Formats: sequence, structure tokens, C-alpha cells
Amino acid sequence: MSQSQTVIEQKSGLPLTTLSEDEQMFRASVREFAEGELRPRVEEMDEQAKLDPALIKQCFDLGLMAIETPEEFGGAGSTFFNSILAVEELSRVDASVGVFVDVQNTLVNNAVIRWGTPEQQKKYLGQLASKSVGAYALSEAGSGSDAFAMQTRATDQGDHYLINGQKLWITNGIEAEIFVLFANANPDAGYRGITAFIVEKNFAGFSVGKKENKLGIRASSTTELILEDCKVPKENVLGDVGKGYKVSIETLNEGRIGIGAQMIGIARGALEAALAYTSERQQFGKSINQFQGVQFQLAEMATELEAARLMVYNAARMKDAGLNFVKEAAMGKLYSSRAAERISSVAIELYGGYGFVKDYPVEKFWRDSKIGAIYEGTSNMQLQTIAKLLIGK
Ligand SMILES: Cc1cc2nc3c(=O)[nH]c(=O)nc-3n(C[C@H](O)[C@H](O)[C@H](O)COP(=O)(O)OP(=O)(O)OC[C@H]3O[C@@H](n4cnc5c(N)ncnc54)[C@H](O)[C@@H]3O)c2cc1C
Repeated sequence: MSQSQTVIEQKSGLPLTTLSEDEQMFRASVREFAEGELRPRVEEMDEQAKLDPALIKQCFDLGLMAIETPEEFGGAGSTFFNSILAVEELSRVDASVGVFVDVQNTLVNNAVIRWGTPEQQKKYLGQLASKSVGAYALSEAGSGSDAFAMQTRATDQGDHYLINGQKLWITNGIEAEIFVLFANANPDAGYRGITAFIVEKNFAGFSVGKKENKLGIRASSTTELILEDCKVPKENVLGDVGKGYKVSIETLNEGRIGIGAQMIGIARGALEAALAYTSERQQFGKSINQFQGVQFQLAEMATELEAARLMVYNAARMKDAGLNFVKEAAMGKLYSSRAAERISSVAIELYGGYGFVKDYPVEKFWRDSKIGAIYEGTSNMQLQTIAKLLIGK
């Protein structure tokens, strides 16, 4: 090989979708779990709107709840990209378990790894790696897209804060024991008063309210949180007082790539189901995938999925490389949520009447896909971020 060839190879690097040996092994182990343990439970968990506790334990035992957490705290010390692979593989089978693992890794652990004091990391990362589910509580009834308009207040009481308010739409609210929760400690300062706290479920004044009955990701719990003079020790401020806005923006920037992974998992599950079904279903004396009209639909689905996957993988690899990935993460979430919705919708049509009933898996993929355009910033908010970064305002 000539010297110039070597230089080109080194510069061009590997294709985005080529996995290292470690990534391949990791993905294979998650797939084995998803196929063997998760798939048989999906329908019932969706019906009951509840995660099977046995699965939750298995997620911890397999190390899926602390993928990036350093080994000294009991985590796998792995990459952000591997978290993305895990969320994609799980969501290919069940997007509820996908988001369960996603929130733990990309929002909760991430926030504590990034902003926690050594004492907080020692105390909480180990629990989050071994047994405690986490949740991320930013939204309220009156503040979703405009998250910094939150009404939850934290008042300084010397050695502790008293938090009062209500959070809404909190993923993992039923299962979680540790909450990264945002409250305004100085409303006069506007968003510069927002502060992040680590709140434990058993703190006085904390309770879990109503659980939502949802269209999709039904097994993932979504709840209200109620804080009535909730006493939080000062050492549980995460990051600096008044810097919660930064904690939330920066964790959500990364979290969005996780939602992108959830969406490409859903899209893959739907496409794989459609490929299998259209090869079996006979009409007019042949498999329906012998009709060019059906073939073109499948080809469109696969092309869209490929584009979505490249965007999500690229954003994740940019994050691991320490590059600025904010625009790419917003684009990846926007595009992959649209792709998942379209691909799962066409999958229903390719199943015909069978696609419309719960005996087959595709209607669930479609229901589960819808949330991708809503949480961790609606599609309009992703467009706003992309536009701001494009035009520099
Ligand atoms: C199942 C589920 C799980 C969730 N999990 C969590 C969680 O774990 N933690 C958490 O903190 N939150 C969570 N959320 C909340 C979620 O992030 C919010 O629902 C989301 O940010 C949208 O806020 P909203 O519902 O108040 O809608 P709104 O902000 O009221 O938006 C309504 C519509 O107005 C549009 N809109 C608003 N402002 C603008 C604007 N400036 N320009 C253009 N369009 C605009 C939006 O795009 C949307 O279409 C979850 C929500 C759901 C449904």
C-alpha cells in the first residue's frame, strides 16, 4: 500500500455503521436479552401498562442501567455510543424498555457524572448502577416547551432547601427512587434562579401523583410528582445554585440522541416485521412482496431508516469524540421521529387489516413512535434549535 493510500484510509476512518468488536459484542448481548426475555412480555406489559419488575432487575444485572458510569462506581465505563446501541436494540422490541434504560443513562447518570460532586457521585452513581431507578423531572403542567417558566420553588432554609410545586409527565415516576429535579431558587433572577437537585423518593414532603394512561409506550410509567415542603439537604444541589438551566439544556442535548435511538429501534422493528409479513402473505397467487408497488414501499422504508440511523449514529459518535453535536442531535431526533412514524404507519398498511389489530406487532410500533415528536423537545423546538444554529441567532 502506498503512503498516500494509508493517509487516505486513516483520514477517512470507518463507516459510521461499522461497529468495533466491543460494540458488536455489546449489541449482541442486548439483542439476546431483548429477544429472549423482553419479547415474550411485550404484549402483556403494554396491556397492563406496567414494566415487569423481573425485567427491571435483569436490566441492572446486565449492566444496562449504568453503561457510561465509571467502573469505580459499579458501571460499565463504556461509551455514549454503546448507550445508543442499547436503546436502539431494546426499542426494536419494546420502546417502553428502551426509554426506561435511556432516561437512566442519558439523563440521570449523565447529569450526576457531569455535574455531581465527588460525594454525590460516590453516594448516587453506585445505587443507580446496582438497584435504583432514576427519573428526570423538569416539565410541569404550565411549562413544557417553555421549561424555564417552571413554578416549582426552592427556598433556602440554611442547611436545606424546601421545595414546593408539582412536576408532570415524569418518565419512570413509578419505579424511580432517585430524581434529578429542577426548581427555581431565586425567581427574581428568572431562569438564572433555576437549580438542579437530587431528590430521593423517601425525602419528607415528596410523593408520586397520578399515573398517565397513554397512547403509546404504555409500559413506561409517566407520572405527576408532588412536592410539599419537600426537605432537600444543601449537599443535594446538583451543579451550582442558579445553574440548573445549564444542567437541563446540556443533559437534554445528549438525551435527544437517545430518543433518536429509540426511534430508529422502533422503525427497525416495524420494517423487519413488514419484510417478514410481506414475504409470507399471499394474494393473487403470490407473496405480496412480489408486487413492485409493495417492493417500492419497502425500499422507501429501508432508505428512510438508513438515513435516520446515520444521523443518530453520527451525533452519538460526535458526542464521544468531544465535538459539538447540538445541531446534529436535534436533526437526528427530528428526522428519526418522523421516519419512525412513517415507517410504522406504512407497516400497518402492508399488513392490511391484520395491521390494525393487536394480534400483530405493528400497530404498537406506530403508537410508540408518536412520542418521538413530543418529549425532550417537540419537533418545533428541534426546528427552532436547528434554525438558531444555522442563522447564528
Ligand atoms: C410520555 C411522556 C413522557 C415524558 N417524560 C418526561 C420526563 O421524564 N421528564 C420531563 O421533564 N418531561 C417529560 N415529558 C414532558 C415533555 O417533555 C413535554 O410534554 C414537551 O416538552 C412538550 O411540552 P408540553 O406538553 O407542555 O407542550 P407545549 O409546550 O404546550 O407545546 C404544545 C405545542 O405548541 C408548540 N409550541 C410551543 N412553543 C412553541 C414555539 N415557541 N414555537 C413553535 N411551536 C411551539 C409545540 O411544538 C407543541 O406542538 C414527557 C411527556 C410525555 C408525553
